[in-house]
Amino acid sequence: MKQKFFHSIIILIVLIFTISLNAQTNSNKYTIVIHGGAGGFSPNSPDSLKDLYLNSLREALKIGENILKNGGTSLDAVEKVINYFEDNHLFNAGKGAVFTTEGKHELDASIMNGKDLSSGAVAGVTLIKNPISLARLVMEKTDNVLFAGKGADELGIKFGLPVVHNSYFHTEEQYKEFLKGSVKKHTGETVGCVAIDNYGNIVAGTSTGGRNFKLPGRVGDSPIIAAGNYADNNTCGVSATGIGELFIKNSVAYNISALMKFKGYSLKEACEEMMYKVLPDGAGGIIAVDKNGNYQMLFTTNAMFRGVANSNGLFEVAIWK
Ligand code: ASP
Repeated sequence: MKQKFFHSIIILIVLIFTISLNAQTNSNKYTIVIHGGAGGFSPNSPDSLKDLYLNSLREALKIGENILKNGGTSLDAVEKVINYFEDNHLFNAGKGAVFTTEGKHELDASIMNGKDLSSGAVAGVTLIKNPISLARLVMEKTDNVLFAGKGADELGIKFGLPVVHNSYFHTEEQYKEFLKGSVKKHTGETVGCVAIDNYGNIVAGTSTGGRNFKLPGRVGDSPIIAAGNYADNNTCGVSATGIGELFIKNSVAYNISALMKFKGYSLKEACEEMMYKVLPDGAGGIIAVDKNGNYQMLFTTNAMFRGVANSNGLFEVAIWK
């Protein structure tokens, strides 16, 4: 009799444990959006090239989705997705970065954690293989937010990040653009990722080689917190791409969050206000996720490489409207 009683108690405990475990799995709610730059990518491009881009976007999204699905943090998801893009020569971040007028590469990146507004950014990096990882270390291991040039490279070396020669970033495709010698053509391919994880934390990250044929020392919006990147758990996270000077002048990423915070806008209303009413047509694009997992991917250029996945089973990548 006594034995039977203990048996039933054990079965009850196992049952409660299984139910609570299930409830935890079901509460797994995440959303992740990615971009690979807004620009003029032509719909008449060869199918083989379109497929290369679409497959890369799928690959990047899968990396982030797997981390979030398995209970990982949005911080890890954003860093790893951007690491993938930085190592992929098709995108203007890390390997495949555009050339400066001097024929070199200067890389910018930033990351922000919406949990406590902690931020890290680097500008004009020339030797560190993955600038977004350096930005993360600036956020986590220093009391500062933004490092530039030689000091940023030295910090990356000190932290033991992989170091490469500047020529590592060189690709034939970007070299051809360099030879054309024009900063006006906006090809895009900057990369970004915004995610909200299971724990309600929003992180935004952006990484770029900057604008094609930029002057040495020119820094765009991507490493400027509030311009090209922003995250606040109370509102949303944003990563931008496009003509950086316009995003800096209009504090685009911060203003999207501010419209939500101070004016009660929805994520959609705030993104549309900044992209369609404040910025001129053709300025670029943004991806954003709010605290409820809603997302936006808006652009006023011909195309934006982009993708979204969430815990409801959504998994989509696209290039044109
Ligand atoms: N926003 C970047 C910059 O101005 C470029 C881009 O997104 O394509 O540096």
